Amino acid sequence: MYLIFRCNCGRAIYAKEGAKQKTCVCGRTWKVKDRKILKKAPDAETAAEMVRKLQEEKYGGGIFTTADKIR
Ligand SMILES: [Zn+2]
Repeated sequence: MYLIFRCNCGRAIYAKEGAKQKTCVCGRTWKVKDRKILKKAPDAETAAEMVRKLQEEKYGGGIFTTADKIR
């Protein structure tokens, strides 16, 4: 299971369930258990897709067009 949450920079990121921390591409490192979990996904592929959708909801799409840019 993967957990999806949002960094304070606004970017949606995902972490494998059980992971203690996750570093956003902006450089901030979060303790996963301290973040509000937005969604859960059964695998990394679904998690990446959910993150992409969250980015599009926030930015209206177009800015983040590929998965490698949101990691
Ligand atoms: Zn960030």
